[in-house]
Amino acid sequence: MLTVDEALDRILAEARPLPGIATPLDETLGRVLAESLTSDIDSPPHDKSMVDGYAVKIGDLDQEEVELQVNEEITAGQVPTLEITAGTASRVMTGAPVPVGTEAVVMVEQTEQVESDSGQRVKVIRQQLDPGAHIMAQGTSIRRGDQVLQAGTRIRPLEIGLLAEIGQTCISCVSIPRLAVLSTGNELVPAGDIPAAGQIRNSNGPMLSAQARRCQADVVSLGIARDDREELEQRIAVGLDADILVLSGGVSAGVLDLVPAALAAQGVTEVFHKVELKPGKPLWYGQADRHDRRSHVFGLPGNPVSSLVCFELFVRPLIDRLAGRSRSGMQSRQAQLKGHFQQRGNRPTFHPAYYEHVGQGASVEPVRWQGSADQRALTTANCLAYFSAGQREFTPGSAIPVFLFEAEDD
Ligand code: AMP
Ligand code: MG
Repeated sequence: MLTVDEALDRILAEARPLPGIATPLDETLGRVLAESLTSDIDSPPHDKSMVDGYAVKIGDLDQEEVELQVNEEITAGQVPTLEITAGTASRVMTGAPVPVGTEAVVMVEQTEQVESDSGQRVKVIRQQLDPGAHIMAQGTSIRRGDQVLQAGTRIRPLEIGLLAEIGQTCISCVSIPRLAVLSTGNELVPAGDIPAAGQIRNSNGPMLSAQARRCQADVVSLGIARDDREELEQRIAVGLDADILVLSGGVSAGVLDLVPAALAAQGVTEVFHKVELKPGKPLWYGQADRHDRRSHVFGLPGNPVSSLVCFELFVRPLIDRLAGRSRSGMQSRQAQLKGHFQQRGNRPTFHPAYYEHVGQGASVEPVRWQGSADQRALTTANCLAYFSAGQREFTPGSAIPVFLFEAEDD
């Protein structure tokens, strides 16, 4: 039987980011660049003033106090018309281009306007300014033709600002993976129905769809299929249009566990069945290649905890990979175990647990539940705690690896 790492390696072995698709700037948040981008402009586009003040020659500031003739006033968006020469200055506002001949900008706070008959004048007190003071030279931030964003970058609001600055309004982003969810089982009814005797509501379908949406997949729900070969095959055929098809139920050893056979009949090649893991041992994974496009197919065990765990461990990293994200799957941490944990059986266990980070220390407390289908107890979890195989008893204070459902730093 494969270990968790071996199984994940098989799933990701040939998985590459999906092709790029032209995306309007407004829709790029959270997406990944499929191409590197260069700037079509210098930034700033001109030598610009960083303050409200006066553009001057440095030599004019040597005296105790000097009066300069004011040539003109330049606000942001205007273009200077007169050169700065000795004895002259131009009033410039933050962001405005500085005139030809400017050596520095004096902050307005260091000056005083002077009433005079011969046009506007300004009084400047002696000060030491380096050449270029309060000026941002053209192209300091970006030179035209510079590569400013690399393929593979995840787009945050900051990158959107930069994309706008370099004039990119339609950007090639890695396509969003499409994921179909199919719940299987004769006992299942939709969440909106009252279950009759022997029936339960389909909780896996909505849960798995939401897990996939949390990873920004584009989700199609295929509803519930009966444990019936023909019905299963029909729904599977539809689901294979997606990049990833996730089924829940029907992959164990029961008489109505028909999913592997139905998948095989629809041309899905088994890559593995069963993983050395608790919960989730019956996990099935295969691939179907049609028209240059691969569908990845997961048959998750129907038990809600198994479905949850298998999705997080195996489906989530694949979505991240196809979406082009470099950081893949759950973030891991170390935490101190609260209370005892008794390992049953001899498989590595990923147990839903509550992780808390207070001050310097992090703790983790496994969810206590009434059997593994205890959906209600499950909602107290925010991570999976990992208990290695081979050890039976984990004592309070043991260092335990945990895997977080939601990233802490996003
Ligand atoms: P299976 O993997 O089909 O043998 O199902 C294992 C257990 O999970 C059974 O108790 C099922 O009733 C339950 N189960 C299967 N599918 C779902 C589902 N979609 N929602 C909730 N429970 C399910
Ligand atoms: Mg079943």
